[in-house]
Amino acid sequence: MGRTCKGICIRYKAEPVPNSIRYEIGQKHCTFCGLFLKVDETRCMCCKAVLRTKSRGKKKNQEDSFEINSTESRNLKNPFSYY
Ligand SMILES: [Zn+2]
Ligand SMILES: [Zn+2]
Repeated sequence: MGRTCKGICIRYKAEPVPNSIRYEIGQKHCTFCGLFLKVDETRCMCCKAVLRTKSRGKKKNQEDSFEINSTESRNLKNPFSYY
């Protein structure tokens, strides 16, 4: 208990880059504050939550379903962009 976003994380907010390379370049995600941080610590200095350093793992099923959705929407868009 006691997790609070104090706004400190904003100062360490990572630069905007494609999500696919976020973790490769050392950015870590605070799921509580909801943003990527450029820090060496394993915990968020703001809310003390453990930072996510890899996108693989528990969310695999969600990622799979998301990929299917994006593929379907891409197929739908193709005919329109073609004409
Ligand atoms: Zn925060
Ligand atoms: Zn945080």
